[in-house]
Amino acid sequence: MSEKELFVVKVGSNTVVDDNGEIRTSVIQDILSSIKELADNDHRVILVTSGAVKLGRKEISDPAASLSSLASIGQVRLFGAYLQEAEKCNVSIAQFLLARPYIVERKHFLNLQKTVRGLFANKKIPVINENDALVANTDWSFGDNDSLAAAVAIAFEAKKLIIVSHIDGLFNADPQDEREAKLIPSVTDVNAELLKCASKNTSSGGRGGMFSKLKAARIITAVGIQGHIINGSVQGNLRKVMHGESVGTVFLPRKRKDKISNRDRWLLAAKNSAGSLEVDNGAIDALKKGKSLLAVGVKKVHGQFGAKEIIEIVDTNKQGVAFGIVDFSNKEIDSILDGNDLYGKLLMHSDNILRIA
Ligand code: GLU
Repeated sequence: MSEKELFVVKVGSNTVVDDNGEIRTSVIQDILSSIKELADNDHRVILVTSGAVKLGRKEISDPAASLSSLASIGQVRLFGAYLQEAEKCNVSIAQFLLARPYIVERKHFLNLQKTVRGLFANKKIPVINENDALVANTDWSFGDNDSLAAAVAIAFEAKKLIIVSHIDGLFNADPQDEREAKLIPSVTDVNAELLKCASKNTSSGGRGGMFSKLKAARIITAVGIQGHIINGSVQGNLRKVMHGESVGTVFLPRKRKDKISNRDRWLLAAKNSAGSLEVDNGAIDALKKGKSLLAVGVKKVHGQFGAKEIIEIVDTNKQGVAFGIVDFSNKEIDSILDGNDLYGKLLMHSDNILRIA
């Protein structure tokens, strides 16, 4: 931890709020005091915290209450708890709520960077959640805070994204179903893990919320950010991982020869999907020459995604080759591949492709 670096720490709802809807203040204290240690050493930290919706549920008896209402009611309590604990730990925090357009639209993105720079200049720790009160269930939402935290980590060129969860890390099977399940301490091929997870459960749940974490890990490691999943219920885990000790699961970053441009970072931070397109060697050669991706080179469509989402291009061994914004949904590509007129069909424009291999 010698160089001055930026860390994004993401805390999950079940980590910060217990099943009775009570805030786990000891967890917040442990997190804030570990962050203070980093900040005191001039590292920069952005904290992303969930928990608003879960807290809101305690306040509203109507089981059909909207996510927006729950978030709106819970957020003020969530931040109140952080503020109270931050004052005890002598940490200075500031809060704002994000939504996808603030990252995806260039002018908002630049403004966001300015806001965060201003907070760092004043030695404040930004504490962020999604603005679910206004964007829940809309296209403006990241949908989950693992994706939001990944976008923030990419946008701010973080060194590490540390996901503080209520589970120990990634297991080779669901630990709730299989007693023999083993923790995987280190992952180099996130894509393979993601495909396994997606084939078990296509909903957003995955292996106890693992699906969205793997999606986040896939995209951050592709741009050279190290990912971690640790158990926040175990006091001291965050401090340990910050000191480079082996805790939970580490997702090793890809080594890149070239620096990623700000535009490409911005492109990747937009809408991260779990989907991928498996392509043939001809398509890979064309990508290496800086060409666009045509339907004729696609062998298989994996997962579900919408048009304009970011998906990965993989080779026939499922190794990642590039990321890019796809112009069609998985269903549309399936029907393009079933048709006769494949040759001219452009699926991803070269301007929207970032090669990683
Ligand atoms: N933003 C949501 C909340 O504060 C959490 C989203 C998530 O669990 O990823 O409750």
